[in-house]
Amino acid sequence: MSEVKCIGILTSGGDAPGMNAAIRAVTRTAIYHGLQVKGIYRGYKGLVSGEIKEFKSQNVSNIIQLGGTILKTARCKEFRTPEGRKQAYENMKKEGIDALVVIGGDGSLSGARTFAQEFDVPCIGLPGTIDNDLYGTDTTIGYDTALNTILNCVDKIRDTATSHERLFFVEVMGRDAGFLALNSAIAAGCEAAIIPEFSTEVDQLEEFIKNGFRKSKNSSIVIVAESELTGGAMHYAERVKNEYPQYDVRVTILGHLQRGGSPTAHDRILASRLGAAAIDAILEGQRNVMIGVQNDEVVYVPFTRAIKKDKPIQHELVDVLKALSI
Ligand code: ADP
Repeated sequence: MSEVKCIGILTSGGDAPGMNAAIRAVTRTAIYHGLQVKGIYRGYKGLVSGEIKEFKSQNVSNIIQLGGTILKTARCKEFRTPEGRKQAYENMKKEGIDALVVIGGDGSLSGARTFAQEFDVPCIGLPGTIDNDLYGTDTTIGYDTALNTILNCVDKIRDTATSHERLFFVEVMGRDAGFLALNSAIAAGCEAAIIPEFSTEVDQLEEFIKNGFRKSKNSSIVIVAESELTGGAMHYAERVKNEYPQYDVRVTILGHLQRGGSPTAHDRILASRLGAAAIDAILEGQRNVMIGVQNDEVVYVPFTRAIKKDKPIQHELVDVLKALSI
């Protein structure tokens, strides 16, 4: 039997659509099992400063459809220091919190891992990031919504690209992962994706041009993953202007548009499942794992694996894009 009686929940790092659905699922499942829940505001910042409030079922009413996070999110330098984490631990004890559920990306789960090691606190992570870059889960909360938002934008850009017979570079988020770029390129019928995973292997621009750009088309859209490894969309537009001046090139950087909006059905269901599973995991005595989903089954992934490993891009998808963009 678990000793845990009170759960603290926080959202940290970049916001992602579906975080609210996850907060709701964690809160309600915990209350359903007779546990007390405390909402911690502004991520680790609120844990360090003591911005903590008891959550009842009503505190999470009417939020499943909202993007962003009602708990707010922040980046917190103090939590990177042993003194900051000690302060956080003292606040946790003062509030009677026995276990933490952290919803966030790679950085937030790294923080949870360190904290759990130092203070022997059960921490459970939920993968909340549009980047889909956590190892051990097929998808992350927010990724599907961001993908659909990108499609919506690229479909509109296609109208202009076709009418003016232009080459567009559209920059999407993803940090150092190309999931958003590659999959949105397939789903929007784009001509190519430039992704960080291949940045050292080939000159992706040269390959795209060599592969017969415009052989049978009057417009092209190339999705570029924002990353120091790719150099971003502006970098490729500059290169085209210099190396292939015959092309009429434009850039669109989608930016924070991609992070907002009402979560898709997929993200709401994923967040609800994973949120409920976080409480099941705590009740089972699990600690220091991220809850993920693999082949539609809920799985527990040790923090160290979720954070450390590079999640591989499926090469099959790269081939699909290549074949479909002729
Ligand atoms: P994300 O979770 O979206 O990847 P960040 O990388 O910005 O976002 O991390 C969010 C927060 O997690 C940071 O502001 C910091 O407070 C905490 N954090 C990240 N990495 C560590 C770490 N190695 N040790 C302690 N805390 C960390």
